[in-house]
Parts: sequence; C-alpha cells; structure tokens
Amino acid sequence: MKILILGGGIAAISLAKFLQDKKEIKEIIILEKNEKIGGLLRSYNIKNIFYDVGPHIIFSKDKKILSIILKILGKNKIKIRRSNKILYDKKTYIKYPFENELYKLPKKDLKFALDKFLKNKFSNIKPKTMKEFFLKNFGEGIFNLYLGPYNNKIWKMNTSKLDTQMVERIPRPPDEDIINSANGAITEGYKHQLYFHYPKKGGIQSLFDAFQKKTK
Ligand SMILES: Cc1cc2nc3c(=O)[nH]c(=O)nc-3n(C[C@H](O)[C@H](O)[C@H](O)COP(=O)(O)OP(=O)(O)OC[C@H]3O[C@@H](n4cnc5c(N)ncnc54)[C@H](O)[C@@H]3O)c2cc1C
Repeated sequence: MKILILGGGIAAISLAKFLQDKKEIKEIIILEKNEKIGGLLRSYNIKNIFYDVGPHIIFSKDKKILSIILKILGKNKIKIRRSNKILYDKKTYIKYPFENELYKLPKKDLKFALDKFLKNKFSNIKPKTMKEFFLKNFGEGIFNLYLGPYNNKIWKMNTSKLDTQMVERIPRPPDEDIINSANGAITEGYKHQLYFHYPKKGGIQSLFDAFQKKTK
C-alpha cells in the first residue's frame, strides 16, 4: 500500500513516523506546497536566539501524547513555569491569566471588573458568539478591559463575529479565584499550562526536526 499525505506539517511527519513500520505500507509520500516542510513549526535563528513563527509551548492534558512528544525530543527539552505578563495601560504588568491578578488594576478599573463580575447581567444567556461566552463567564468589566481588545487583536476579528468553536479550550476559573485575585490574593488559573515543556535548543522547529530524523 502507498500512502500520500497532503501538506508537510507536524501532523504529516508524525503520521509518517508512526505508519512507516507497518509491513503493509510500502511507501509514504508527503506533498508540500511550500519550499520547506514544517508548517507552523518554524523557528528563525537571529544572533543565536531562536524565534518561533507564533510562540509555541509544549503541553497536553493527554499524558500519553505528551510522553510521546517528550520522548521524540530526547534530551533537547526543558520544563518551564509560566510567567507571562500582560502590559496594561502602557505601564502596569498584569499576570496572565488576567483574571488571576485583578488587584493590580487601577482602582476604577478594578471596581468595574469586580462589580460587573459579581452582578453579571449576562450570566443567563446562551452564548452564540465568543463575545457572548466571555460576557457570560467573566462579565462586562473584564471583557471591556482585557478579553475584548486582546481577542480582537489575536483573531484579527471582532469577537462578536466569531462563533463558540474555540471557547471549549478556555477554562472557566472558579468564582473564588476571581474574587480573591481582586482582593490581592495570588491565584494561578489554567493549571494545565502552568508548567510546560520547550526544546532546550532550536526553538519549536526542533520538535518537527526531531520527528523528521525518526523517519526513513
Ligand atoms: C500563533 C500560533 C501559536 C500556537 N501555539 C501553539 C502552542 O503553544 N502549542 C500547541 O500545541 N499548538 C500551538 N499552535 C497550533 C499548532 O501550531 C498547530 O496545531 C500545528 O502546527 C498544526 O500542524 P499541522 O501539521 O496540522 O498543520 P500546519 O503546520 O499548518 O501544516 C500544514 C502544511 O500543509 C501545507 N499545505 C496546505 N495546503 C496544501 C496543499 N494544498 N498542498 C500541499 N501542501 C499544503 C502547508 O504549507 C503546511 O506546510 C499554535 C498555532 C499558532 C498559529
């Protein structure tokens, strides 16, 4: 049997790696439209610092998948604790996820975020758009101050025009976390990404390269 895979990203190279040893498969061909294979797993070396095309981290709720990826990377991996910050109003750094460090907001914004979360007029809506999902789960304050502008920028589209396909990936923090973070407590949020892996050298492209090395 011959296999033809269209497009040469990580999905293609990993599929080829896992299929190549099956005795009924005689040949696997990957057809890539670009000059280079790798798809979105691309890193550029500028003065010995590797920049990903879109920042990538390695994590998975699925322990088996994660262990396969880490095994492929061999020794070229490190485990890192998340330390992302959001630059708010050009001078204040707020930890990501935003709702876990609300107390750092200017007083007026903090009151707006907390009041609209506690008395949320959208809490009973059935979201049809990403915007409605955010309003229902975080309130108008957190949405107007952060989630709205941040997501409009990320998706290059107003969240009122996006449906709810992606929102399953956005965890809903416990109410206490949001309230406690407004009162100055340190809460973490999104724990499945709190620690993540990353290649020690070569940027995220080295994950693709590691898969490629394992193919015949
Ligand atoms: C900004 C950004 C950040 C991300 N961060 C993370 C992260 O932190 N962690 C994570 O796990 N995932 C992350 N992702 C998602 C991850 O990059 C993708 O899920 C993954 O790379 C998809 O791999 P793929 O092989 O399916 O597709 P792609 O990498 O898109 O590869 C598809 C390949 O097919 C080729 N192709 C397309 N059409 C044709 C055609 N007609 N003929 C021939 N070739 C064709 C393309 O040129 C491309 O090389 C991120 C994505 C983005 C954009």
